[in-house]
Amino acid sequence: MLVSYRCAPTAQLPKFCESGVVIAFTVGAYLFAGVATFFLGPGRRYVSERVQTARGHPVANAITGREPVSERRLTAFGLTLSLVLILIWPIFLISKFQDRKRERRELANWEERVRSGIEFTMMGGAGSVQCQDCSYEEEIVSFTHGYSDTGPTSETGVQCLACGKFTTISEGGDNDDDGTAPCECGGTLSRDHELFCPKCRSKNLKYRMSYIT
Ligand SMILES: [Zn+2]
Ligand SMILES: [Zn+2]
Repeated sequence: MLVSYRCAPTAQLPKFCESGVVIAFTVGAYLFAGVATFFLGPGRRYVSERVQTARGHPVANAITGREPVSERRLTAFGLTLSLVLILIWPIFLISKFQDRKRERRELANWEERVRSGIEFTMMGGAGSVQCQDCSYEEEIVSFTHGYSDTGPTSETGVQCLACGKFTTISEGGDNDDDGTAPCECGGTLSRDHELFCPKCRSKNLKYRMSYIT
């Protein structure tokens, strides 16, 4: 439509004609950038992933009894999606950029937590904690479960917030420990805190898992 603009040699409407050229050029540059971002950026992969999801896995389709989508419809879907992405490329790029920023922030948070210490909720099974400052070491249980003659059992690790002693609470089986009793020193037993060394109270601990059930 914009191509049909014609500039008369002795332009009676020079303003109109020029603005037509400017618009055509802008739209052209916008679309060119859209196509370039699509092929060089994350657009193409995004579309092929969506098409793959729509196609479904043959085995999964067989199990769920899902009718496989015809290749023609998949191609049409892929082309439409590509066209939309080319048209709205700034929005797509910004959202991708924000996704990546969010992922990086989550990873940084996780690394920060790992670096700043260990917590029972991050530790599996049973193993040993080692203090990196005073080299104190102790075998502890974070959480394990199993079965006995009288039913399911579980062992849950806790630490006394006052004296730092590690204790294992056993539930089920012959044990009737409900885990509400305080530490023998009177301190509170906790599972939701950063573990600290019972000897020097440093939080610079490492956990090495030896088994998990
Ligand atoms: Zn220590
Ligand atoms: Zn205690």
